[in-house]
Amino acid sequence: MPHLLLQDIAPLHDYGSPVIIAGPCSAETEQQTLDAARALCGIGVKVFRAGIWKPRTMPGCFEGVGDRGLTWLARVKQETGMAVATEVATVEHVRAALDAGIDILWIGARTTANPFAVQDIADMLRGNGTVTVLVKNPLNPDLDLWLGALQRLAGAGVNRLGAVHRGFSSAGSHLYRNDPQWHIPFELRRCAPQLTILCDPSHIGGKSEYVKSLSQQALDMGFDGLMIESHCNPDQALSDSAQQITPSVLKDILDGLVIRSGAPIEDELSLLRQQIDDCDRELLAVLSRRMSVSQEIGRFKQAHNLRIVQPARYQAVVNERIRQAAALGLPAAFVKQVIEAIHEESVRQQLNISNDQSNDQ
Ligand code: PEP
Ligand code: MN
Repeated sequence: MPHLLLQDIAPLHDYGSPVIIAGPCSAETEQQTLDAARALCGIGVKVFRAGIWKPRTMPGCFEGVGDRGLTWLARVKQETGMAVATEVATVEHVRAALDAGIDILWIGARTTANPFAVQDIADMLRGNGTVTVLVKNPLNPDLDLWLGALQRLAGAGVNRLGAVHRGFSSAGSHLYRNDPQWHIPFELRRCAPQLTILCDPSHIGGKSEYVKSLSQQALDMGFDGLMIESHCNPDQALSDSAQQITPSVLKDILDGLVIRSGAPIEDELSLLRQQIDDCDRELLAVLSRRMSVSQEIGRFKQAHNLRIVQPARYQAVVNERIRQAAALGLPAAFVKQVIEAIHEESVRQQLNISNDQSNDQ
């Protein structure tokens, strides 16, 4: 099999347009897997997903049922005729999944961030023109790691290749579980115009209530399809309980999706606006984190009987920020205004703490 370039990778045509992949985060029991598969097949889903090897951030979480889940997926395929997809992270997973007739393998965000693991998987799949491989973006917002993983697979001759955008981890509290940073998949689109790029609104949003709006947004932005987590009883799910939706909610979402032609993904202005939206989301998250620290300081000052405004510290902060901003090409007058506004709000919040505590006494 020749070494392929990402630009040569053709779209995945045989899973419908838009491609819809749905199923539980994890296969938990044979019954739960079959119940979900039958319900999803009943609403017209053609590709079933379920994780059986779950790389979890923290030990002690549900780490999947392992190899025995493969027979459950094989049964789903045989009974419903749906194509079946599962996550692989090691060569052993790939071998077992291929032996079980799994149609689609996906490489998860934690694995995409590890070039050794991806290369091992690519070597194992060398020359395989049958299985479909989807590469989720890495946890960190690094387009090169994502591209690199796709290139390793294309380089091994894997030609049934696609990508899944599932958002990026970031510190602090945010609206969504994973920051979409839409400009990164847009840039991937520019590098690989024919590549099938799906969006995973479940992992981006992290909450079932965001799945609908993120799905529509993704299609409006030219994604080729969606990977959505669906469980018959989301409250009881052993992983990602908050973001899973029932097959019947999924049906309502799919029925309501508006498919627009002429996706604006190539529209320069909308690309730039997405970047502004991403920046504003980051700004707000940072401001909220900064205010939490201010409140902490307020409680400390209150406990130690310190004055809220310390003029020397404030002056030092303003001077230091103006100096740092100059290095970033930001004008002093503007930065001074921003810092003053932030400081004013910090003081207001610290005064509130102080007043609340005085009132309690
Ligand atoms: C998943 O799809 O259930 C999963 C673990 O995804 P990610 O690798 O995107 O976190
Ligand atoms: Mn999940």
